Amino acid sequence: MADFDGIIIGAGHNGLTTAAYLSRTGQKIAVLEANPEIGGGTSTEEPALPGHRANLHASFFMGLGHAPLMRDLELQRFGFSYVEPEVQQAGTFRDGSCVVIHKDLDKTCASLARFSKRDADTFRDLYHRYVIELRPLLVSLMYNAPLPLDQLQDRLSGPKVQELLGHAKHDLFSVVSEYFDDDRIRTLFTSYMHVITTENVPGSGMVFPGIFANVTGFTLPIGGAIAYPLACARIVAAAGGVVRTDTKVREITITGGRATGVVLDDGTTLTADRFVASSIDTPTTVAMAGRELFDDAVNEKLDSWHWGNHSLTTLHLAMKQAPVYKARDFDSDIDDAYNVFFGMEDLDEVRSCFRDCEEGRFPDVLMGNGACNSAFDPSYAPAGRHSAFWWPFAPYAVDGDPANWDEKRADYTQRVLDMWRQYATNLGDDNVDATYLYTPLDIERHNANMIQGAVRMGAYIPEQLGINRPHPQLSGTRTPVEGLYICGSGVGNGGGMNGAPGYIAANAIVDDLGLARDWTPVAQPEWRD
Ligand SMILES: Cc1cc2nc3c(=O)[nH]c(=O)nc-3n(C[C@H](O)[C@H](O)[C@H](O)COP(=O)(O)OP(=O)(O)OC[C@H]3O[C@@H](n4cnc5c(N)ncnc54)[C@H](O)[C@@H]3O)c2cc1C
Repeated sequence: MADFDGIIIGAGHNGLTTAAYLSRTGQKIAVLEANPEIGGGTSTEEPALPGHRANLHASFFMGLGHAPLMRDLELQRFGFSYVEPEVQQAGTFRDGSCVVIHKDLDKTCASLARFSKRDADTFRDLYHRYVIELRPLLVSLMYNAPLPLDQLQDRLSGPKVQELLGHAKHDLFSVVSEYFDDDRIRTLFTSYMHVITTENVPGSGMVFPGIFANVTGFTLPIGGAIAYPLACARIVAAAGGVVRTDTKVREITITGGRATGVVLDDGTTLTADRFVASSIDTPTTVAMAGRELFDDAVNEKLDSWHWGNHSLTTLHLAMKQAPVYKARDFDSDIDDAYNVFFGMEDLDEVRSCFRDCEEGRFPDVLMGNGACNSAFDPSYAPAGRHSAFWWPFAPYAVDGDPANWDEKRADYTQRVLDMWRQYATNLGDDNVDATYLYTPLDIERHNANMIQGAVRMGAYIPEQLGINRPHPQLSGTRTPVEGLYICGSGVGNGGGMNGAPGYIAANAIVDDLGLARDWTPVAQPEWRD
């Protein structure tokens, strides 16, 4: 008799999504987490001042309304819910102007038309195509294992999907520049696209439709990002499973070519009858199971795994009043905007920021996005107070060495705050009670699989996306080792708080074990115009 039916390594949102789904099939699951707390990239802490809650990593949960997770897992019943603010995004500029994206399409187009009538019309077209019409296709692409291009082409036909697939021939900046004319609007959308840390390389235009589809689907988890993993952990516990913290796995046990359990850091062995699923990064997972079990091509790919040219550094503020942006005189709706971008004026500045990141310099042009979460959910701060953050893009090895993040923390904090002050009017000491800079080095310390501060466990470049993430033999969450699955951001559709790898792995395990499911899997991608 094994200890469990299945063991899952890592209690981030993907590992726990797999665990919650499998728990619903009656499997006895153990989820093992190295950290003292569950959550991984969906953790919530109070780093600046007690009572001021901050999501240290994922804060914007995108497209949840279309994901299968809420419904299938009855997450609301287990304590997870979210708000979807009416004013979704804003990009504000040094001259005091701003572009505002609302859930209301007409209002968005009116805001864009102040800069370019043509861009407003383009936005309307793109909205109809990607947010509404092709949405079911994009959801099925996200929540199914990636397919090779030839198989995709058999399933998808017509001019609309040809245009969608055609983006894969271009880099991200070209796609944005082809659609939009105005410099500030281009700037907003390139920064918006980079929020998932895509690199601007040939082929990266492929991410455009999927990200654009969520341009009005940004949500804030009530009570903190941690509410999602906590809800999944309750589902596991309700089914008789366990979620153990302070439990680091060092090895995956293989018996007779099959994954049969794990060895913990302290030498304890835990066994699983049916499967082991790892939600941690793929190079580490493969090393834990034994590289000799995988083809040379897989090992070679993982040896040169690219963690990404840019990470994020986050300035968290504990404040009396929420940030007030200068641009309110131009468009007062910015007062209600959830996700606010600033720091960049044109594409040259965007390029300069990413060049500095790539070359390991603290960027001259600090640019990125952030929010004041307490303005949308008061539980993020004590009564009458606010918690806000801004996360500009930044390199891991800053000024040549990641240790500089610790040594020059005060200087970097000041530089980020000074930049924020160029756009917001009330960030003086009288309003800001405390600051806390969370750096790429802190990300790596906090989360063993966010190596080099990797926001999504590996750069988004075409060689590391879809069927190539990390290699066709692993991208669908199954592995060549019987009973071993990979259910985290290092495979297939990648990272972000969407639960997709965890969901795909759960369905693969259910199919392989012949279990009965009480949910209907998202249909395979299919489209004919
Ligand atoms: C600063 C920052 C901001 C971000 N913002 C957003 C955002 O707004 N929206 C969004 O969608 N995404 C965002 N992301 C990305 C998002 O956080 C991640 O892609 C996502 O959380 C990854 O989930 P996961 O479950 O795959 O991995 P993780 O959450 O990393 O979970 C893996 C877990 O495994 C544990 N672990 C590692 N090694 C071991 C071991 N040997 N034994 C046991 N456990 C182990 C880790 O401690 C971790 O808890 C952000 C990331 C960062 C860094």
